[in-house]
Amino acid sequence: MTVKKSKPVPTVETPPAAATDPLLADLNAAQQQAVVHGDGPLLIVAGAGTGKTMVISRRIAWLVQTARAKPEEILALTFTDKAAGEMVERVDALLPLGYTDLWISTFHAFCQRILHEHALEIGLPDDFRLLNETDAYLLVRRNLDKFDLDYYRPLGNPAKFIHALLGHFSRAKDEAVSPEEYLEFVKNAALDQDVATEAEERSRLAEIANAYHVYQKLLLDNGCLDFGDLLLYTLRLFKTRRRLLDKYRAQFKQIIVDEFQDTNWAQYELLKLLVPQDGNIVVVGDDDQAIYKFRGASVANILQFKDDFPDAAEILLTQNYRSRQNILDRAHDFIKQNDPNRLEVRLGAAASKRLLANRPGVAPIEHLHFATAEDEVAGVADRITEIKNGLQDGQWSDFCILARSNSSADAFSYELQRRGIPYQFLALKGLYAKPVVLDCLAYFKLLDNYHESPALYRVLSSPPYRIDGEDLVNLTHQARRKAESLYETLKKQELLRLKPETSRTIDRLLGQLATHSQLAGRKNVSEMLVRFLYDSGYAAELKRDDTAEARERSSHLNQFLSRLRRFEAGHDEPTLRHFMEEFAIERDSGDEGSLSFDVETGPDMVRLMTVHAAKGLEFPYVFVVNLVDKRFPSIERGGGIELPDALAKEKIPEGDMHLEEERRLFYVAMTRAKDGLFFTSAEDYGGKTKKKPSRFIAELGFEPTSAAAPSVETLPDLPAAKGPSAAPKLAPPNYFSFTQLAAYAKCPLQYKYAHVLKLPLFGKGHFSFGKTIHSTLQKFMEEYADRRGMGQQQLFGAAAAADQDAVPVSREELEKMYEAAWIDDWYPTAQIKDSYRKKGRAILDSFYRRVTELHPEPLFLEKDFKVRLGSYWVRGKIDRIDKLPGGEVEIIDYKTGQSKGETKVKAEDKRQLMLYQIAAGRLLGLKPGRLTYEYLEDGTKVSFLAKDDELVAFEEGVSAEIDRIRGGDYTPTPGRHCDFCDFADICEFRG
Ligand code: ATP
Ligand code: MG
Repeated sequence: MTVKKSKPVPTVETPPAAATDPLLADLNAAQQQAVVHGDGPLLIVAGAGTGKTMVISRRIAWLVQTARAKPEEILALTFTDKAAGEMVERVDALLPLGYTDLWISTFHAFCQRILHEHALEIGLPDDFRLLNETDAYLLVRRNLDKFDLDYYRPLGNPAKFIHALLGHFSRAKDEAVSPEEYLEFVKNAALDQDVATEAEERSRLAEIANAYHVYQKLLLDNGCLDFGDLLLYTLRLFKTRRRLLDKYRAQFKQIIVDEFQDTNWAQYELLKLLVPQDGNIVVVGDDDQAIYKFRGASVANILQFKDDFPDAAEILLTQNYRSRQNILDRAHDFIKQNDPNRLEVRLGAAASKRLLANRPGVAPIEHLHFATAEDEVAGVADRITEIKNGLQDGQWSDFCILARSNSSADAFSYELQRRGIPYQFLALKGLYAKPVVLDCLAYFKLLDNYHESPALYRVLSSPPYRIDGEDLVNLTHQARRKAESLYETLKKQELLRLKPETSRTIDRLLGQLATHSQLAGRKNVSEMLVRFLYDSGYAAELKRDDTAEARERSSHLNQFLSRLRRFEAGHDEPTLRHFMEEFAIERDSGDEGSLSFDVETGPDMVRLMTVHAAKGLEFPYVFVVNLVDKRFPSIERGGGIELPDALAKEKIPEGDMHLEEERRLFYVAMTRAKDGLFFTSAEDYGGKTKKKPSRFIAELGFEPTSAAAPSVETLPDLPAAKGPSAAPKLAPPNYFSFTQLAAYAKCPLQYKYAHVLKLPLFGKGHFSFGKTIHSTLQKFMEEYADRRGMGQQQLFGAAAAADQDAVPVSREELEKMYEAAWIDDWYPTAQIKDSYRKKGRAILDSFYRRVTELHPEPLFLEKDFKVRLGSYWVRGKIDRIDKLPGGEVEIIDYKTGQSKGETKVKAEDKRQLMLYQIAAGRLLGLKPGRLTYEYLEDGTKVSFLAKDDELVAFEEGVSAEIDRIRGGDYTPTPGRHCDFCDFADICEFRG
């Protein structure tokens, strides 16, 4: 352990509380020191698997438990959603009661939260639409004429240029360079070249700078922000609105950052702005794991931190709890080839990366070389099976296959599937190639044009129709013979002798096509998708099994649905035809559809992912595959537009940046392994020439292998590949929302459809309406509370309310909020929509009147919480908590509808409020005096307060219910509620 003290840090090897405090007991001395670090900045630089992430999770819990900080006073930032999710989980496990406001998130999510709250302050819309790469591409593509391009004018397909420009803008945003700054730079930059080239260079740069400016304006004109904007504008907000910055600086007493090596300049700027008064910022990182070159060079960030915080304490962790010693040694020897661009070299012993394994034993480290790609794929599957069979409690989840790119991983997923080995492909791209999405797209194509024969063929073979193979052959044969479209052949199906079953299916399909193509001209495209799913029987098909695979299909469908909704948000006439037009452009640009994976799917599966996605994770056995020249290390992608060095704010190192980055990536791959590490390669990947092995194989010290090296044949006898094994069951969730529990209480089967299988759903007009009213009232009450000078955070006593009589927000302002919040979706007809709009106004009138009369004093609005009930987590959101005279509070939940004239809260409605009563008491330290449903339509309120024994019974009831859910008990309870069930049409138990 090495601790550099520049501020007094506890000097005892083991802090006194350690022996008994379960948060500290199992940590080594350096780790403990990091957890209990006092005030001031702290830098933890350490190699992989030394417990960095663990230490900061513990620190968060420790700060809360020892009352050094409240949960909402800690800002913890990390890189990926997955990492943020894991940190939340770890912290959950450490905080016994639960909490209300935890700011653990990615940088982007943090900025998004801030901007949604305060965007108006810098002239941005607070209801901005966040564009992903695809959306941004399409926006530029549609508006290409607005860009004054000469040097970069696309001659053919503009896709490459647009991507290059977008990449460039994003890079500029990483460096927090605004268009104005860019333009300024171009005007003044000293370009060190002769006169002729200088003029050309300046005009090229001016063109880019102008394009950047146009792009930014385009985004704003459309009410959109892209990912880079989130940071850019948050920085601008904090730099120009000191009051807000001060507010957040006062709130966040502790800042904690994981994977610090990968923060870009803009993110680092943000951190520096937010550093609290006491300088409490803890950053952890490993320069050897910096894998986003364009987010700043590897060592620069950490050195910069040391410059900016010269007083920072430093802790080095050298005990590794993940891997066997020989894996650590091999990885360290490998990464040393990046010297001297490494901290270890720059800082000497103070940053020693030689790690000591805590777990004894030697791991197999092998290079397996094969003749062909097929052999490699088979060889990996064989080796996995072999190792698993040899282990006592071998699990599929002990294995991970890592590839440099998504496309390399494809072949492995086919092979695992073929062998019936459960696996999960954690790809970030490829949604549009998923079978279920292809089925839907085929149907869409048909609605657009009946005569698209390949699409019709796919639809006929898709799950809801799946017509007989022989009949299908006859049909296509006939179509070809008559040179007509398959559709025309179907129309004349009686001429062919088809099986009666086939005939019926064709009639059904033709009928649906007729109805749906009628609708498609009027309805939103997302609604058409859901209609197709339910009318065709696809949804009924999906609900049939509850395997992880089925769930994955639903997840793909839901992602496709989100894609459609994003399209709708940006279009005035979001019909199927317009979507298909845009979609064609998107596909032309090479977009494969971004894919997010569902981490909740089955636990016991082989994981297959890219190295980038594996960051921070660990697995007993790791296979790094396709280790050949040009794949890993990858070739440096040309065609990009470089950002001028002078605009990059960090120190750019010398050396072969690309190769070094690939080495770091490889180092990340190696250090995921605990007990075994396998490198595989092949000679023949189907190209004209044989592939050379990756240079990394030699750098690892393996002998060069010849073609005759072990192929599958020479491997030991292996058990024959099994047929498809029983599909793995879904893992039950660990967290439950109140909505989910309510759904379960109504009907466990309904719960399963909605929350386990996550079948896509129709929206409903009255849901859109309910959401509109809720968000309008929230906005209004926030404004109301703000202007009364009693911000949400303020508690009793401090709230010396200003003017008691006037409502500080006018009815007109409320109306504007209503208009802005209006959600236009899912109303069956324009008339019905209109009547809802009127009803909304009446609701607001009466709400406004009540506020004028009663002068409520809201303490909290939309308070998120997560509370532990028994051994489970339940989360929810409280609409409003008001202060009552005498120090108690009233908890209010809005109901959009009418009361049924009841004067008391009905037993089945009590549960929700009791949950809130528990959360407010335990997590916020409040004393509820009244729990209230406020029926907005008629303005009535009904209240009650649960007694302690009721709360105990409630908590036990919830625990028992969750036990049943986790036990997989989905017995349907049909009844009158079936009439309102979303799944009534596909449910055979319907009452
Ligand atoms: P990476 O650099 O890959 O992100 P890391 O430094 O963040 O790694 P962690 O993921 O926090 O490391 O920890 C690696 C593994 O070691 C985890 O399984 C963690 O639970 C375990 N671990 C860390 N510290 C200890 C300890 N003191 N005792 C037992 N296990 C530990
Ligand atoms: Mg980590």
